[in-house]
Amino acid sequence: MKIALDYDKTFTADKALFSSFVRLVKSKGHEIRFVTFRKSNKPNLDIKSDARRLGIKIIFTDEKQKSPSTINQGWKPDIWVDDDPSKIPGSTGLSSISSI
Ligand SMILES: [Mg+2]
Repeated sequence: MKIALDYDKTFTADKALFSSFVRLVKSKGHEIRFVTFRKSNKPNLDIKSDARRLGIKIIFTDEKQKSPSTINQGWKPDIWVDDDPSKIPGSTGLSSISSI
């Protein structure tokens, strides 16, 4: 299973909790990566440091919708963990979402 973990206001909301989550996910044989809306051309020292410490990769979507960006980079998550779900679907996917 592939799990996309948002960084800002998700991982950073409780770094100890999500660090334990990352270690558990990896111990169960699943793959987890940070998927962030951030631009890759910035220093991003905090996320790079946390990714290095946890031994996971980072996908920077460069302020584009997350789902199509990850697919374009050859990685399709099965599960998203994110404080801002509106950044996940592509623009065509949003049109199929109806409100209750
Ligand atoms: Mg976030």
